[in-house]
Amino acid sequence: MTVPGLPMAVPSRDLPTRVRIHEVGARDGLQNEKATVPTEVKAEFIRRLAEAGLTTIEATSFVHPKWVPQLADAEQLFPMVRDLHAALPVLVPNERGLDRALGLGARRVAVLASATESFAKANLNRTVDEALAMFEPVVSRAKAASVHVRGYLSMCFGDPWEGAVPIPQVVKVCRALLDMGCDELSLGDTIGVATPGHVVAVLAALDEAGVPPTALGVHFHDTYGQALANTLAALQQGVTTVDASAGGLGGCPYAKSATGNLATEDLVWMLRGLGIDTGIDLGRLVATSTWMAAQLGRPSPSRTVRALSHEDTEEH
Ligand code: MG
Repeated sequence: MTVPGLPMAVPSRDLPTRVRIHEVGARDGLQNEKATVPTEVKAEFIRRLAEAGLTTIEATSFVHPKWVPQLADAEQLFPMVRDLHAALPVLVPNERGLDRALGLGARRVAVLASATESFAKANLNRTVDEALAMFEPVVSRAKAASVHVRGYLSMCFGDPWEGAVPIPQVVKVCRALLDMGCDELSLGDTIGVATPGHVVAVLAALDEAGVPPTALGVHFHDTYGQALANTLAALQQGVTTVDASAGGLGGCPYAKSATGNLATEDLVWMLRGLGIDTGIDLGRLVATSTWMAAQLGRPSPSRTVRALSHEDTEEH
């Protein structure tokens, strides 16, 4: 029997039984939207995401407001959401950002490194090694404060200036982040060019270098419609953490033609169909993304949001 609004669940033996979704809409999503959303709306968005069952919700970024004006209200926003029943990681670009986050009681932080020199230069104005050196005291001080650290790695599968990214380069930066003390890594396909075989090759090379799939999350962009195929390939290799953005919010301003993050609803639909229950109420999540799309004044790019919103319209 199928439940209206949900796919028939047909479990597959080669997949993990549990998957943790790392929701990035409020940070990676909103930071890459043109419109700046009022602080109260962001807090409401995060509260609704938690009520829909998301357990890890990246809340904001303590980057200098000059660089990311959309998230300039981190100091006001974080105290409004920090008591929610969800892990609420925040991005910290440097020690100053870490100080601000720790001062407000953040228990999880993330740093954003690059696998390529071009993106390190464009995004951080540093070489890859200089950026890693900058993160070292951030990670060690966070660990000393018993704060969980996630290391993002951008451009793992392709770079808009350099093209293909050699896999050993990705492995090298991943190893450096783990050796520094990061608790988990997130492999970013920032321009969405990865395909499933490429994903398998990167994960295999990392495993061989002592970075197992259990230490990794995957962060796919749907630029070329490959995000779910790539996710499935990663799950088959043993990855159990997947980044996604509610309603498909965001993209990347430095990456040409990046149409945005994998939509959380599209991911939840596939996982439900594979018999992997994430504890997420898809109806509530779709309602949240539909509400946020109205705040932004444009429809959600998520296929699942559109399909389920359309069903609603037909029924009522
Ligand atoms: Mg992203």
